[in-house]
Amino acid sequence: PFLPKDHGGMNMPFLEFAAVSEILGASPLGHYTFGCQAPDIGNIELLSMFGNDQQKETYLRPLMAGEIRSCIAMAEPDRPGSNPTWLDTNAVLDEDEYVINGRKWFTSCVDGAAFCIVMAVTNPDEESRHKRASMIIVPTNTPGFEIVRNIPIMGDVGKGFFSHGEVQYTNVRVPKENIIQTPGNGFRLAQERLGPGRIHHCMRWIGICERAFDMMCQRAVDRKVKPGATLSDQPVIRTWISESRAEINASRLLILECAKKIDDEGAPAARTEISLIKFHVANVLMKVLDRAIQTHGALGI
Ligand SMILES: Cc1cc2nc3c(=O)[nH]c(=O)nc-3n(C[C@H](O)[C@H](O)[C@H](O)COP(=O)(O)OP(=O)(O)OC[C@H]3O[C@@H](n4cnc5c(N)ncnc54)[C@H](O)[C@@H]3O)c2cc1C
Repeated sequence: PFLPKDHGGMNMPFLEFAAVSEILGASPLGHYTFGCQAPDIGNIELLSMFGNDQQKETYLRPLMAGEIRSCIAMAEPDRPGSNPTWLDTNAVLDEDEYVINGRKWFTSCVDGAAFCIVMAVTNPDEESRHKRASMIIVPTNTPGFEIVRNIPIMGDVGKGFFSHGEVQYTNVRVPKENIIQTPGNGFRLAQERLGPGRIHHCMRWIGICERAFDMMCQRAVDRKVKPGATLSDQPVIRTWISESRAEINASRLLILECAKKIDDEGAPAARTEISLIKFHVANVLMKVLDRAIQTHGALGI
């Protein structure tokens, strides 16, 4: 919805998309139905803003049409994902191809994806650690690209879209034109991609919170705890409901403030707000869901 019209979107400002995202977030199918599910939406944004014409035609167009899926690979088993300037995976230019070697993990949705945007070090000698890595488009059928396993999340290995893969890259060769923008720009592109992505995640979480909140309220008035009394008569349940209401509303405003700043000043200027919503709204989501689960008793799990 927020992409430019000439890319098939609706040119919606982030502030408006945030409101749409909340509504879509109430159902696990919402974002998927509108083609704005993570991680594809982040890659769509990235390619529409920074991809060249060839990349747009080969990867962006079918991705936006829903014909293919994609993924992004930054995190690695032996390097801290919290510091994306320090990566093991490297891409070495060999005539007109990049040769990629390394190991990535938690590559969401790689199982069945047509291509992956891989963050790899191309400029190891660059003085600034922020200018050493690049983002390179790797078709998943390239020789040397091997999904080692789907990593179990809470006991579930998942499959297809609902999976998080560990991937080995062994002498994976791609044309040098597959680099997004210029070598050394990976960190900057990651910042551009992850910032708006957090608006999507957080507003989706607000949608989930609202749904859980409604269910909690409904259960509280429906569930009789003794003749003539329901759960909603209990002070602790009322406290959970009022605290949840306040926290959801406050979180929404934080996110909208962040979205407005991205609209007005761009993602880099909204760095602080983006970080705030990520940890704050995640915690609110956990609290609201937990209260909703507790209110449902055994039915909650
Ligand atoms: C379900 C799921 C899906 C994911 N999907 C993707 C994906 O599609 N693509 C991708 O590239 N990655 C993905 N990831 C990986 C994610 O990006 C990383 O887990 C994240 O960046 C954190 O990196 P890490 O796991 O290496 O933790 P670490 O960097 O090892 O950090 C460990 C802990 O220490 C904390 N910490 C680190 N530094 C500091 C500090 N200076 N001060 C205080 N605390 C600190 C961190 O917050 C964290 O809690 C996914 C992860 C999950 C769980």
